[in-house]
Amino acid sequence: MRHAPNLSRTAPPKANPERQKRRAAAYQARLHRADWKAKRIATFERDGWRCVRVVAGQRCPNGRANGTALHCNHRTYARFGHELPEDLETLCACCDRIVTAMTRANWM
Ligand SMILES: [Zn+2]
Repeated sequence: MRHAPNLSRTAPPKANPERQKRRAAAYQARLHRADWKAKRIATFERDGWRCVRVVAGQRCPNGRANGTALHCNHRTYARFGHELPEDLETLCACCDRIVTAMTRANWM
């Protein structure tokens, strides 16, 4: 009979509060630059002012038409500060919370 591997020796990655603080500050600064505001509106225009998240083959119905706040989400942080249109997407406030939590876990 085989035994399950001992996972207790694998320590979880250490949190880095200094790095998290630095990156959160860089992110906030980014949101206040004029080029970001233009990119954000361009993203909303491209996506039809609607959330682009698809769950089980259904596109999220939230958007300007039903009064849901829209967020411009970074699909990737690889070009953070000089994003390409495809790096950004429109999400409703609800989907943004879910998606951003998943992306930032890898970035921060
Ligand atoms: Zn949504």
